[in-house]
Amino acid sequence: MNSGIRFDSVTVTYGGHDGHTALDALDLTVEPGEVMALLGPSGSGKTTALRAVAGFVRPASGRVFIGDRDVTALPPHRRGIGMVVQQYALFPHLRVDENVAFGLKAQKVPKADVPGRVADALELVGMGAYAKRYPRELSGGQQQRVAIARALAIRPGVLLLDEPLSALDAQLRSGMLAELARLHRELPDVSILYVTHDQVEALTLADRIAVMDRARLQDCGTPQELYRRPRTEFTASFVGNANLLPVAVGEGSVSLGGAELKVATDGVAAGAAATLCVRPHLVGLGPGPNALTGRVTEVQWRGATHRLFVEVGGQVVKADVRELRQPPLLGEEVVLHFAPEDGVLLAAGVRGG
Ligand code: ADP
Ligand code: MG
Repeated sequence: MNSGIRFDSVTVTYGGHDGHTALDALDLTVEPGEVMALLGPSGSGKTTALRAVAGFVRPASGRVFIGDRDVTALPPHRRGIGMVVQQYALFPHLRVDENVAFGLKAQKVPKADVPGRVADALELVGMGAYAKRYPRELSGGQQQRVAIARALAIRPGVLLLDEPLSALDAQLRSGMLAELARLHRELPDVSILYVTHDQVEALTLADRIAVMDRARLQDCGTPQELYRRPRTEFTASFVGNANLLPVAVGEGSVSLGGAELKVATDGVAAGAAATLCVRPHLVGLGPGPNALTGRVTEVQWRGATHRLFVEVGGQVVKADVRELRQPPLLGEEVVLHFAPEDGVLLAAGVRGG
């Protein structure tokens, strides 16, 4: 099955039409076979967007399409969707195989096909040997695999995952992340909408990331685009670490703390206020192009790196440099630099949506 997802100006309000807008005119397309992450802080409307696709909330306005089909008015079980939520929500009194078979019965799959479909789905998530166990006899990670198998058993064209790893501890999470990436390679036709507030999950798994804030889509692009060329301050700060430094814009350069820095200024008028975004790991210690002189206000040892906080013209610039034998002392004057192509200029007041 080859079916993408399309939000066409979808608005969801809770508590009637004059109620609280949880999703504000979302326009977003997930291509067939694409993994789209919905990334944003808690309360930004991610789950609401997912529930609109699943059919658990009815948009106040706008349409939801799965493939070419307008599903806005269809009940959930007729949308051909698999869904996995944060709390693995298995039926405790049913065995693993019975849990996986559950959705198939609702879909009216012929009885004779059920055992094979269940076995296939469990095999897909590496849980074939656990079919006769009860959920309480499984670890959290194993339960979540079963929940994924249950979602996949109906062979959905669309898989919705709502923070599926957030109940797992850090180590399990990274293993499951690799599992999900493998699963996606084995099911290249399934479109996946993956809700998370964790930028590492989004950067690792997604073909594209849709950044949400306050009920609105702020930005959308490949992980590399959003990381290297964020369009908004919100994206820059939410996807990766960023120095966001107010600067005065000149012709092909900006000024910061008395220093003239070369960066591309396309699209930002000279004289305008703007924000310079530079990733801390792209800031080097020592002289170089776009040099900044300042005083060290804080030094953090982070194992492989040192993070230096350096005050430059009243602003603090963060630099992540390879672990130093002799890190600078607090109050010491140092020179930082970054390559012109590593600076991204953001016009003030740009918001997405
Ligand atoms: P996220 O998944 O990004 O954390 P949600 O989509 O769950 O955000 O919620 C978006 C907004 O809608 C929040 O302000 C939340 O409090 C509100 N909200 C979510 N579900 C309901 C509900 N059933 N009734 C009323 N308000 C809700
Ligand atoms: Mg949520």
